[in-house]
Amino acid sequence: MSTKPVLQIALPVPLPGCYDYLYSGSPAPAQGTRVQVPFGRRTLVGVVHGQTQSDYPKLKAVSAVLDDAPVFTAELYALCERAARYYHHPLGEVLNYALPALLRQGGDAQPSQEKRWRLTERGTHVSDEQVSRAPRQHQALQVLREHPKGLSSAMLNALDVASPALNALRDKGWAEHFVVENGPGISKEVLAEPPLAANGEQQQAIHAIQDAEGFTPFLLDGVTGSGKTEVYLQAMAPQLAAGKQVLVLVPEIGLTPQTVQRFRQRFAVPVTTLHSGLTDRERLDNWLAARDGKARIIIGTRSAIFTPLANPGLIIVDEAHDSSLKQQDGFRYHARDLATWRAQTLNIPVVLGSATPALETLQLARDQRFHWLKLSRRATEQQRPGIEILDATLAPPNQPLLPLSLQAIKQCVDNGNQALVFINRRGYAPMILCQDCGWQAECKRCDSFLTWHRAENNLRCHHCDSQQRVPSRCPSCGSSAIHEAGSGTEKLTELLEQSLPVPVIRIDRDATRRKGELDSKLKTIRQGDPAVLVGTQMLAKGHHFPKLALVVILDMDAGFLSADFRGPEQAAQLLLQVAGRSGREGQGRVLLQTRHPDHHLLQLAASGDYPALASALLEERRMAALPPFGHLALFRCEAMTLGKAMAFLQELAQQPVADGVNVLGPVPAPMEKRAGRYRAQLLLQASQRAPLHQTLERLLDAARQSPQSRQCRWHVDVDPIDM
Ligand code: ADP
Ligand code: ZN
Ligand code: ZN
Repeated sequence: MSTKPVLQIALPVPLPGCYDYLYSGSPAPAQGTRVQVPFGRRTLVGVVHGQTQSDYPKLKAVSAVLDDAPVFTAELYALCERAARYYHHPLGEVLNYALPALLRQGGDAQPSQEKRWRLTERGTHVSDEQVSRAPRQHQALQVLREHPKGLSSAMLNALDVASPALNALRDKGWAEHFVVENGPGISKEVLAEPPLAANGEQQQAIHAIQDAEGFTPFLLDGVTGSGKTEVYLQAMAPQLAAGKQVLVLVPEIGLTPQTVQRFRQRFAVPVTTLHSGLTDRERLDNWLAARDGKARIIIGTRSAIFTPLANPGLIIVDEAHDSSLKQQDGFRYHARDLATWRAQTLNIPVVLGSATPALETLQLARDQRFHWLKLSRRATEQQRPGIEILDATLAPPNQPLLPLSLQAIKQCVDNGNQALVFINRRGYAPMILCQDCGWQAECKRCDSFLTWHRAENNLRCHHCDSQQRVPSRCPSCGSSAIHEAGSGTEKLTELLEQSLPVPVIRIDRDATRRKGELDSKLKTIRQGDPAVLVGTQMLAKGHHFPKLALVVILDMDAGFLSADFRGPEQAAQLLLQVAGRSGREGQGRVLLQTRHPDHHLLQLAASGDYPALASALLEERRMAALPPFGHLALFRCEAMTLGKAMAFLQELAQQPVADGVNVLGPVPAPMEKRAGRYRAQLLLQASQRAPLHQTLERLLDAARQSPQSRQCRWHVDVDPIDM
């Protein structure tokens, strides 16, 4: 039997490995090129992984090669391969994920063309008399004279210039419809505005990053308001001047127009963004602009780590502790770790910036594997306000705010300032219950209570989004003594509106659902008139509100008391971030209401001494061999019954494991039932990565072959951040 040339194709299917397809053309498309292939009854877009020979008789052929040249740069392809291996996720799915949607669907890897109308050389010499008898053409001519760089048809339409007139000018050779080259910035100067005068600590940090040669990882550890962004801006200037690109990752919530504006204002080079708010077409154009080197600063959320770069010089990860950098479904990767790998491969510096670094990053700095740059003061010379702890058990019944907090808010707005009340819970009240029999409104599909949304007058589950009517009588005993307990943003807003003479601005997912609503609210806040803001963590990060002089924090206890070992770390990060909104340009105050005023970790966090808190937490982690001192991987499984989920994981737990790997569980998940399914998990722990990954490979094999797997949905999460 004769062998034939075949291509190994990585396909977006949930199985590991590549698929062989016949391809006899020459030369064969290179690695990273997209092809179309038949797969079962479907046609899929896959990516060429390699070439080989095969004598297998039943192979199908590649139906089309979609690219003249690979869409993946070799470096980006290698990053995807490494990520697929590390996260034990199928390569085809990783490659598919890394592509903009239009390329996934088989679209052309070509930038969209912008066409404009402009006058030709001859057209510029035409006199008004020559068109005096054609008023429409006359008008078109006048408009085009005023816009020598040309105008799109849409713009011309808006100016009342219609196509017949333009066509007439074209037919006379006076105007032309041309394709705009979105070329790189013409300006030789990269700076559009002068930098701020950096303070001593900022200067040290800037120089360290500027002087770095080759792969150099930095932790920029700077308290909120210390001017980390200024450090990024100044550190990247020489890279841009040298013609290089800078990739900036920001958290989902951090990609505000305000952030992007700071980069656009400072530099005269093209800045492009990559995030979920773009249309598919915009996303592809921006992606191509980065790949072709036209975009020089690329700012994006986590998936932007997969942007191809023509000439990369520096990678920056802002708010590097933020959990939105970890993808929590499908391909579960951490963009912070990928950023470091990528910088290593590219042999360029990478800066992870944070006011409250992740303990993993902090430990790398302590071990001197990262250069540790510290900014200990606010750049604006404003003192960072301390956090005052208030005992929330002293609040009157059913009152979320202590009298002291309310008084402070009143005083704050009386002084002409703004106050922020932070509560990480939207809706009116998190619970509805019967006073006669104790019945509580629970989600039928989840182990959770329903939140009362009063404006919509319904009960909603914040885990599965299911909704119910609010019962007028208790479904259990028929009593009409149904009451709410606890409070969310909606109720707080109402309360504050009743007791204060100033506007109360609510910012949470419900109050900002409509397009533009968030931006307009933020704008109102920045205008600075006295107001009270009520917000969830949407308000915690990145925002700079000059007039904000008081922050009142409610309900942070759960995090500090959480069974999840990351609970206190994440709670402290959020607490300090929220507190950091206060007094950025004047005196500030922060009040923390807690039912556990004596809690040790909470006190440490409130003291503002994140390093001390981190040391305490790291010590606990060391004793328990938890990250960063041990490595974890989690199998999660859900099924129609808990028994099925547990049995499947039990089968995995019985597999032989490599030396040094501990198997813990299976146990029911913290929320055992969610969206109608029962969930369980199995944890693998090891002090070395190699045996952990070896064991994972074996368990994954067993899982794929297990007949029980067909009754479950399961996945593995390497370095899980919630468990
Ligand atoms: P961070 O990102 O560390 O929270 P920012 O970069 O947002 O801090 O800076 C906080 C404020 O301090 C901003 O208004 C910024 O313009 C200002 N700032 C930063 N560096 C300086 C400096 N060297 N001199 C004066 N103001 C500065
Ligand atoms: Zn009842
Ligand atoms: Zn639910």
